This record gives sequence, structure tokens and C-alpha cells, in this order.
Amino acid sequence: MINIFRRKKIEYIDCEFCPHCDANLTLQKGYSNLLPNWICRGCGQMLINPNLETESNITWICDKCETTLNIQPGFNESCGKWKCTECGFVNKVSPEEIYVSEDEYQADIHNPYKGLCDEDALELSLFKDEGSIAGRDDIILVKNTENAHYYVKKLLKTYDRSIYDYLLDHPIDNMPKICRVYESNNCLIVIEEYIEGVTLSDLLEKDGSITPLSIQEALRIAECICGILKCLHSLSTPIIHRDIKPSNVMLTSNGDVFLLDMNVAKWYDPEKNDDTRYMGTQYYAAPEQVGYGLSASSAKSDIYALGMLMNVMLTGKFPKEEKATGKVWDIIEKCISLDANMRYATSELKSTLEELRLHI
Ligand SMILES: [Zn+2]
Ligand SMILES: [Zn+2]
Repeated sequence: MINIFRRKKIEYIDCEFCPHCDANLTLQKGYSNLLPNWICRGCGQMLINPNLETESNITWICDKCETTLNIQPGFNESCGKWKCTECGFVNKVSPEEIYVSEDEYQADIHNPYKGLCDEDALELSLFKDEGSIAGRDDIILVKNTENAHYYVKKLLKTYDRSIYDYLLDHPIDNMPKICRVYESNNCLIVIEEYIEGVTLSDLLEKDGSITPLSIQEALRIAECICGILKCLHSLSTPIIHRDIKPSNVMLTSNGDVFLLDMNVAKWYDPEKNDDTRYMGTQYYAAPEQVGYGLSASSAKSDIYALGMLMNVMLTGKFPKEEKATGKVWDIIEKCISLDANMRYATSELKSTLEELRLHI
């Protein structure tokens, strides 16, 4: 579907210098002025050979392997769809796939709303952007123009849609409610409840240094998170959060604890035994989660992260730098066992934390 409309005969491949960046093309390895197209090594722009025979002056480029489709045997512009003979990718061949420049094409493939059906686009237009959250352009505070309520809009490139569909119908207490889910060509667009509060990372970190919490408060927060995890982990197909860390824990003004961000969550599949993609965040991610070739992440990976989080809440540091002391360290140590089987089960940890909190 990537197609460059060769309207102007400017982007010649048979000139010596790139028309965009002036790089000397003849010095680029593999370049020849006989090729149908060439991606400049200097600027990444696609250059089209003006001598290429086309039906209507349009050069069709495979979306996947970027070879020219016009020269593939049997190709014609009225085919509608064309399976690339080089890579097998099925390209759409239709007028809306035509771009007059590489820049226009690049802008389009990164447009998060491209490919939404009219109904979804209309519904989504009710949520007006108010500004990005935490400096990220993929997490946006939005205001619904009909009810004047605030929501969070997330544009997710990596996602498991079925988790959001599940949470839409089965909200979990103390997690932002998922209100709408849309899928465009380029991402999943999630509208969720806006929780007003302060993140645990903001609470801990003030003026560049970390101020530990009292043991009562740390245990209370850990116990709340554990309660949320218990809901996720006890579903008939458990959901593993996989990204428990201070910036994903929100405290509201009345002390409620919310767990945010299901972006890297996944369904637990006991059959799957490799989980090499690094999705959790360094230090909180359990060893099995960061691809040391151990077993796949499971509910126990969340327990590991919670153990790390407890130590940070109590000491302001990771255990290898400074360990919490007393009975709570015994709990943390068990949470962060290298062997996932040695860690607590979620409900066991919750009752252990409660027990300790009531007796200190
Ligand atoms: Zn160039
Ligand atoms: Zn191809």
C-alpha cells in the first residue's frame, strides 16, 4: 500500500545526488541508476526511477519489503490487491493509498486514527484533547464534550486487545475503568477513567531525593496493590500486570490506591515457556520476565515486582543497595526469590501483609 505518486519528475534516482539531502548516491553501497527505486542511505527518502514504465505515472511500492510492484509479472493498477512476489505481503492498490511524497506517507502510517470506521471516528471526536499526560504524546487527557467529564486517551502500539475488551465488560476495583476501545490501522485507542491523584513515584521522590514512607503506610499500599492483583490473578484466565512500579501506582486525596497501566499486561498461558520480550521495567521486572531463559512470566512475576516496590517504599532503595529490616524484610525476600516457585501466592501475600500491619 505504500505508493509514491510520481507527479513531479524531481525525485530522480538517475541523478548523482539525492534531491533531499545532497548525499552522493553513487557512493551508497548497492546503488545503481537502473534500479526501479532506491531508499537514500543518507535521509531515508524513497527515490523513484523516472524511466520506470507505469500505467498512470504511479509507482506502487510494497509496504513490507519496499520493492517496486509495477515491475512484478502480471501486476496492473486495477487489480485492487496485489500479493508481492518478493515477500508475499498483500498490498492494497487503490486511490486512497497514493501519496505524493514520502513525508506524507510517513505521516499517514504514524497517524493513530487512520482506518477508523466513520462511526468510531465520530464517537471519538466527542473526546477533545486537553494535553498530554506525563509528557507523553501517546497518553492524553481528554474531555467529553457531552458530559464534560475528563478521561484518559491512550494510543497503544503494543497491546493485547482481548485484555481491554475483557476489562471493558468486567471492571476491576481500584483500576481505571475502561470506557471505550477503538482499533485503527496503527494502534489501539483506549478511553479510560481519569483518576486524579498523585503517583507513588511523585510521593516518594521530592526534590531529587527519595523519602521513604512509614512502615504502616507502605504496608497499607502494598496490601491494596495485592488486593488488586488478587482480582487479576484469580480470573479464570489470570491477567498478569507485568509493570508494577511507583509511576503506575496512584494515590487519591482520600487515600485510595489505584493500579494503572495495563499496557504490557497479558493473559497467563502456562503452556508458553518463553517470554523474551523485555516489557517490564528494569529492577521491578522479575528475572523470568527479562529473558534469562527461565520460565514465562506468571502471577509470581507481579509478586516479585511488588516485593521490590515494598523495599523502595521503606528504604528509598533497591534491596541490593539497602534492605528493609525486620519481619517485613523476610516477606520481601520471599517475594523476590529468584525461583518463582518460592514466592508467595497472591492471596497468601495479602493475608501475610495484613497480619504484619495489624501487629506492628
Ligand atoms: Zn537523501
Ligand atoms: Zn514485498
